[in-house]
Amino acid sequence: MVPTKSTSTTPKRSLAPHAGADSRAARARAERMGVVPIGGGCYDVVTETDTVYTVDLPGSRCTCPDHRYRHTRCKHLRRVAIEVNEGEVPPPGKSETGCETCGKRVYATEHEPGPAYCEQCTLDVGDFVVDRERETLLVVARTTDKRADEVRVPGTDHTVAAHPTNRAYDGRDVVVEVMYPLRADVDPEEITGTQLERYSFPRARLEQRGRPHVER
Ligand SMILES: [Zn+2]
Ligand SMILES: [Zn+2]
Repeated sequence: MVPTKSTSTTPKRSLAPHAGADSRAARARAERMGVVPIGGGCYDVVTETDTVYTVDLPGSRCTCPDHRYRHTRCKHLRRVAIEVNEGEVPPPGKSETGCETCGKRVYATEHEPGPAYCEQCTLDVGDFVVDRERETLLVVARTTDKRADEVRVPGTDHTVAAHPTNRAYDGRDVVVEVMYPLRADVDPEEITGTQLERYSFPRARLEQRGRPHVER
């Protein structure tokens, strides 16, 4: 038998020597690439052939030849931008860590060690919490971004972190201000200053007990 020769009439598509932006965008999304954040707004991109290029996202630079010699917005730069936008990797200035309470993946400020909390575990004003040391119910008056080792306990010369009952907690934890809940039927005339006093605790000392409004 005579081998049949391919008589395909499909025109051979030429491999465009100057791939346009559209094709780069498509390859940036479709190609198998691994993006590894290395800090300082830089990301290593591992290509299908195991070549590693480094993308500097804020500087819009890449170490690949396509970018260095042709000054294009290469597929590596595009891919990093896509993964940042989609939340697959932390944006510049952030690094990945686990939520202190539930372990869920969160992006914390880079070079700022200390416990981080996911959205769900970040306390809001009005949240009910239990003080783990005294097992009393409290209500959140304010969540701060100040560290327990920076905030002074009013009327003392020591910080929240150095307070005797707080020493077991991480001094880099954020400070949360709490109050004792008031009964709804309390006569406003009879509320005393002591009842309205706020206490500063490291976040980890408080156990979330739910929100007064309906959870979504
Ligand atoms: Zn590149
Ligand atoms: Zn959490």
